Amino acid sequence: MDKGSEVFQSAVSAAIPGQRGFDYLIVGAGFAGSVLAERLANELNQRVLIVDKRPHIGGNAYDRHDDHGVLVHPYGPHIFHTNSADIFEYLSQFTQWRPYQHRVLASVDGQLLPIPINLDTVNRMYGLNLTSFELEKFFESVAEKKDSVKTSEDVVVSKVGRELYNKFFRGYTRKQWGMDPSELDASVTARVPTRTNRDDRYFTDTYQAMPLHGYTRMFEKMLDHPNIKIMLNTDYRDIVEFVPWKHMVYTGPVDAFFNYKYGKLPYRSLEFRHENLKQERFQPVGTVNYPNDYGYTRISEFKHITGQEHPTTSVVYEYPRAEGDPYYPVPKAENAELYRKYEAEADAMANVTFVGRLATYKYYNMDQVVAQALTAFKRLQERHAQAEADEALDAVQHTAASSA
Ligand code: FAD
Ligand code: UDP
Repeated sequence: MDKGSEVFQSAVSAAIPGQRGFDYLIVGAGFAGSVLAERLANELNQRVLIVDKRPHIGGNAYDRHDDHGVLVHPYGPHIFHTNSADIFEYLSQFTQWRPYQHRVLASVDGQLLPIPINLDTVNRMYGLNLTSFELEKFFESVAEKKDSVKTSEDVVVSKVGRELYNKFFRGYTRKQWGMDPSELDASVTARVPTRTNRDDRYFTDTYQAMPLHGYTRMFEKMLDHPNIKIMLNTDYRDIVEFVPWKHMVYTGPVDAFFNYKYGKLPYRSLEFRHENLKQERFQPVGTVNYPNDYGYTRISEFKHITGQEHPTTSVVYEYPRAEGDPYYPVPKAENAELYRKYEAEADAMANVTFVGRLATYKYYNMDQVVAQALTAFKRLQERHAQAEADEALDAVQHTAASSA
């Protein structure tokens, strides 16, 4: 019997009268589901069944050693960064860290130039020797003034002008999202800042690090609790009616939960092409972006990111797709409006909590999902405390009534 059906059997037998079943059914073993499983089991001693339709835990942050022994991220490069000491400390219970600052180069006009755009990007691109002050003046001279910055095009052209926008952002965004930056919310390209100094790090967060032994090992530790049962290769819809549970935490796509009753929410997908090369190094930094050429947006080389030493190297190419597994919510007003209809339905469900990037249709990084899950846990904890207080009061009233 495989592990999935063993858990299913024990889950079903938990329905036998006199046994308790599960307090929580958690759908999805990514960051959202795993943080909640860990908190509910460790803090509230709740019995949790966590189900994922994939054959592994970790959601999109899952990592594994490929056939050549190189640690890779099957769903694209995942770099942990946060400004929150609380989030970093929380995860530090389950992993040690390897400090890592991600650097990205963009292939533009035959050169590999730093992105986010910084002083070196502009100097190397135009063969100049500007100072930071002079670069500020340059940006001011080329920036297109906007009364209000609404779209992903506005964000960039209002800071660095149209030429740099065309070279670094327009093509990449059209490829990644299948639409022009002028059709996307400002928040998308606003993820990438503009700098006038020489800082060439992709992120500037206080905490930037990779789990020392990988994400999967970290998830294994989070879920290692006698009250947590893990069921893989299982769509929750196949078991939801057979396994007894009291409350569900759902972290899959919100529109699928409601059988697309208001229509499909657009999600952007990716196809990942993994390659192993018989050479120690492929490219100078963790990620190289290709805004203007090829069908892929970027190539990432894992050994830069994980620090692993190995005689060969493994890379992943990302090809954006309209169809396939949902990876990105698409931030634009009409999608937010459609999401609000699903959100209203979700809010009205007393026995289901929706958490995570797909379930709340938010373009969240890992740390933001952890924060969202910890907040959801606090609400469940309060409900739990209230239910216990109500039960205790009932018991007191019952005793008083029967001794009267
Ligand atoms: P997920 O990880 O998607 O987990 C949801 C789980 O639910 C999945 O495992 C899915 O199989 C399961 N599920 C769905 N429906 C069902 C069902 N019906 N039955 C059973 N199971 C179901 N963030 C960063 O902070 N740094 C990065 O560098 C970074 N890079 C990224 C690169 C790429 C290419 C992508 C796509 C994302 C990246 N992210 C990054 C974002 C990060 O992946 C997410 O923030 C995080 O993984 C979301 O966690 P989650 O639990 O909400 O969702
Ligand atoms: N972007 C771009 N050129 C780049 C890098 C990013 O146009 O070289 C835009 C693009 O629209 C992308 C968005 O900025 O989707 C956010 O980039 P980020 O690297 O944060 O994307 P993610 O890692 O989430 O895929």
